[in-house]
Amino acid sequence: MATSGFNAFEMAQAQFDKVADILQLEESVRDILRQPMREYHFNIPVHMDDGKVKVFRGFRVQHNDARGPGKGGIRFHPQETVDTVRALAMWMTWKCSVVNIPLGGSKGGVICDPHNLSMREQELLCRGWVRQLAKDVGPLNDVPAPDVMTSPQHMLWMLDEFEAISGAKYPGFITGKPVGMGGSLGRTEATGYGVVYTIREALKLMNVKPEETFASVQGFGNVSQYAIQLYQRLGGKVVCVSSWDQQDQKSYAFRRDVGVDLEELQRITDRFGGVDKEKAQSLGYEVLDGDAWIEQDVDILIPAALENQINKTTVEKVSDRVKIVAEGANGPTTPEADAILEERGVYVIPDFLANAGGVTCSYFEQVQCNMNYFWEKEETLTRLDTKMTSAFHEVHELAKKRDLFMRDAAYVIAVKRVAQACKDRAWA
Ligand code: GLU
Repeated sequence: MATSGFNAFEMAQAQFDKVADILQLEESVRDILRQPMREYHFNIPVHMDDGKVKVFRGFRVQHNDARGPGKGGIRFHPQETVDTVRALAMWMTWKCSVVNIPLGGSKGGVICDPHNLSMREQELLCRGWVRQLAKDVGPLNDVPAPDVMTSPQHMLWMLDEFEAISGAKYPGFITGKPVGMGGSLGRTEATGYGVVYTIREALKLMNVKPEETFASVQGFGNVSQYAIQLYQRLGGKVVCVSSWDQQDQKSYAFRRDVGVDLEELQRITDRFGGVDKEKAQSLGYEVLDGDAWIEQDVDILIPAALENQINKTTVEKVSDRVKIVAEGANGPTTPEADAILEERGVYVIPDFLANAGGVTCSYFEQVQCNMNYFWEKEETLTRLDTKMTSAFHEVHELAKKRDLFMRDAAYVIAVKRVAQACKDRAWA
């Protein structure tokens, strides 16, 4: 998303450069990993309900597929930029690598605001996206999935278009499909739950019981809602949640000292995670400015919205009590803010580790589609927990051994694996 003066791709490259130096990577490896392998920019004409044709701009960026087919979501956002998609594709490469699944990194996007599109227009947009790319994506080279403001229904329309063009059934073309249509049980919960598996492990290392902790969460979409659900089940208390208000075009934070009631909030939330502020107020929530989520006196901050939220300016508002920042969103913390959090001794669980539960479950979805045999929810979530927990401890151990910030340790593990795959393939 475009925010003045902030470029997500420059940030992703700066993070990579830092780790390339730590790893003393050769020039050829740096060259291949600093840029996407390929990218597609295209127009998607849609016959709108009013009879006019509107042309939307779409993207797919394939950052690296040395370890397996590209993998990554598609975002629908009015402020989408190709540089954001480039950064997100690069982060997908590191995400799949850090949890050690045999996939590369891609990302897609469309500049649009789905709030203003009818279901029919959204269907045509999804089908149009696939028509532009059908030759360049697919189960064996690049596999899309949901992301910001895209849903299982969008994935199913895309699958249907791909199968119509290909003349055969390819359930592995896309993940995050509805359950019963090739989707995996647990996929909806996976990203949010994955964030909490890593928080649970971090708290264990700190000898802190979850039931003694308080958290504040930014965003109230899919990642946030399921992170809150599992964190509350572990006994933690969420005292503040922020969400975007489409009508006012700004965000608000909803605070309640006794803790938010997830189901009650879900009942007054639209399908894009927007909470109805009048209703929240009447339910006893204090309605604050959107940024207020960051300055709460809590132990854990969970940014689960968009990039560039904890930056040079906002990091100053983070309370001294905060022990853990668990990044549910992609790219929520800038390198300047990272340096300050590191100095303060805050334990940052970096995005491409903390939110890797989604893509890990997508990988399980592909595995189940290939077998044409689907696991029970419990089995899927247990496998997810095992994978996330072992990736978390691998990163933690390295951070401890080499005295690295958690983000750098995660990068060292992820980049090393991808660099090795490039070298083994004689790409670098
Ligand atoms: N969009 C999610 C992410 O950023 C999931 C990607 C996927 O399942 O491929 O990790």
